[in-house]
Amino acid sequence: MIRKLIIVKGVVQGVGFRPFIYKIALKNNLKGTVKNTSNGVYIDIEGSIDNYKNFYKDIKYNSPILSVIESIDVINKNIVGYETFKIINSEKEDGFTLISPDIATCNDCLKDIDNKYDKRRGKYSFTNCTNCGPRYTIIKNIPYDRSFTTMRNFKMCNSCEKEYENPLNRRFHAEPTCCNECGPKVELLDSTGKKVEREDPIKYARSLIKKGKIIAVKGIGGFNIICDGENYSAIERLRSKKHRARKPLALMMKDIDVASKYCNFNSTEENILNGNKKPIVLLKRKNNKLPTNIAFNSSNFGVLLPYSPLHYLLFKDGIETIVFTSANITGEPIIYKNDEALEKLEQIVDYFLIHNREINMPIDDSIVKVVLGEERIIRGGRGYYPIFIKKHIEKNILALGSQFKNTISINYKDYIIISPYIGDLDNKDSNERFNKVMNHFKNIYNMEIDEVCRDMHPGYFSNSNKHLYSNKFNNIYHHHAHIAACMGENEENDYVIGITFDGTGYGEDKNIWGGEFLICNLKEFKRGAYLNYFKLPGGDSAIKSPWKIGISLLNKSLETNKERLYEIEKKYISENEVNIKFIESIIDKNISCPLTSSIGRLFDGISALLGFNGDITYESEGAIYVEELANKHIGNKEEYEFELKEKNDDIEINTKKLVLGIVDDLERGIEPSIIAIKFHNTIISLTIKTTLKLKEKYNISKVCLSGGVFQNEILFKGIVNGLKQYGFNVITHKKIPCNDSSISFGQLLIGSNK
Ligand code: ZN
Ligand code: ZN
Ligand code: FE
Repeated sequence: MIRKLIIVKGVVQGVGFRPFIYKIALKNNLKGTVKNTSNGVYIDIEGSIDNYKNFYKDIKYNSPILSVIESIDVINKNIVGYETFKIINSEKEDGFTLISPDIATCNDCLKDIDNKYDKRRGKYSFTNCTNCGPRYTIIKNIPYDRSFTTMRNFKMCNSCEKEYENPLNRRFHAEPTCCNECGPKVELLDSTGKKVEREDPIKYARSLIKKGKIIAVKGIGGFNIICDGENYSAIERLRSKKHRARKPLALMMKDIDVASKYCNFNSTEENILNGNKKPIVLLKRKNNKLPTNIAFNSSNFGVLLPYSPLHYLLFKDGIETIVFTSANITGEPIIYKNDEALEKLEQIVDYFLIHNREINMPIDDSIVKVVLGEERIIRGGRGYYPIFIKKHIEKNILALGSQFKNTISINYKDYIIISPYIGDLDNKDSNERFNKVMNHFKNIYNMEIDEVCRDMHPGYFSNSNKHLYSNKFNNIYHHHAHIAACMGENEENDYVIGITFDGTGYGEDKNIWGGEFLICNLKEFKRGAYLNYFKLPGGDSAIKSPWKIGISLLNKSLETNKERLYEIEKKYISENEVNIKFIESIIDKNISCPLTSSIGRLFDGISALLGFNGDITYESEGAIYVEELANKHIGNKEEYEFELKEKNDDIEINTKKLVLGIVDDLERGIEPSIIAIKFHNTIISLTIKTTLKLKEKYNISKVCLSGGVFQNEILFKGIVNGLKQYGFNVITHKKIPCNDSSISFGQLLIGSNK
């Protein structure tokens, strides 16, 4: 006879862990107790040594599918003579527990929903169990107990309580469990907020969708705006009301069979689509059977399958495809409160399908793409985030991230926690959301902050904050943070060559970097090479107007031949002469023309030369335009000339010949799509040549890739494969996005080394 205290840490709460322990304790004839604490699950067990050994093996190898065990500690105890095995109530201790992300509805629950004879869960929109349902979005505090969630407002009926207390039931201690009798309810409101009385509001909503109506639907992490995905004019109306001219819209599809009608996917992508996270997966389109205004010229569709019972119930009566876009005012964070939705979406939608389960922490849908056989997260939200990365750091650091695609990171008790995607911090609502997320993590873990890490850029919102929790600030360069994040995700500590290709980052010389090759580790960096500087006429405003950058690139390459310059501009820049002249004049006088080495901006400028008209209507539209053109000629290996100029201690990548080559091709009447693939090939080639030179110079053969430009699939694949051919060890992002959502994690790692 022995007694042991077993402490299991990791994602072990809200995932059916205690019922699992209960079952294996019964199976192995052990007595004692199990409880959740904020320090993990505590199992106090008594029995024979052989039974204990089998029990331990079960914990290690057969734990619930959603659990992630980080550690198991075992302490010997004196026998007390337990007579039964019991699950006892949670208590709050000074410790740490990982918050589970929200999990898509499981197949067992879907069966319950489809069961017409089940009065409690048939057609019920909030059906969940220990294997599925909301978590992060409803948790107000830890440990994970109903009383600390937004479900505390709903008192369980007798039937639910019985299930909740029966260790052999699938809903045993399923904290958000509820049913038609006791749980939240769905309501349909018209655009003015007036209740539409119908016996089955969801059924009526389906008929409205079929009639082309636009509906705001409250989901797990916030509201979405939906309409029939097969109805061109409904989509057009949604676009015009939401002021969303051209940005591709995501599609929710009934099931995998419907998805296969319109998209190509491999088994990895199918598993992600059908898995328990249910992100938006970017898939190659198969045909043009759906309305063109869903994604215009994009070769991808963003597709997700229903992840909550309410969404699942929308796909009856023949509905197969709905446009599914997050409900927000452009640039602002996702709307998640009923009253806010009614106020802000009144002019956009025809109806609201809402409910009375409160969302405590809003979260966006995750977006992922499989590239080079691996799942890569583009936006870290529902199902994936928050994420916890094991790493021991002596001090407590809060890292505030970047201005765009912001996330925050904090470290606590051997983990770094990265928040879900928050958004762009250039408006009041986003700033409030940022504070809400920061306070949530700080309060839930009740922690002291020793140091705050933030971007070096003096104009960023994070630098305007005086209300923070520490007086000690550590300002970190944007691109160093990018590479540190990529290193940290892959547990790399040595010196690497870090290639950062993105849109904007404040550089050491105060210029706008974005085409840099850093020689760095987690502590320090030095710039080894960079894309030559060019002017950004009008500063940040040029980001919206690729044609301004096109003029700047032409100016840089043709400055000695003004006559030809003006002629080329007139021919290929689709903008009126007055505007072109004005931009020329500010470039010549060097007024309001910051310098940039950004590859993202280079793409913008090239897009204008290749026929992209006017201003962009969504982020990176110019760059995506060039990539889509190039997609028509995958396999073409032609490229333009370029020069690598060794300067004092670094290498400048000179693009003058590249731009002149493009101009020559345009003049020869070469198709813009051919020019686009040649341009991509050139960037791949100059990246590989530069990296080889740096390897020679610094004797480093590990390369990290980070920055939003690596979302460009042609470039990413070309650079990874090209570098591998030369024997480089190429390290890339997977669970942390390569874009600016990675910045906070990188800042924290660098801060921990200072
Ligand atoms: Zn379930
Ligand atoms: Zn109930
Ligand atoms: Fe960046």
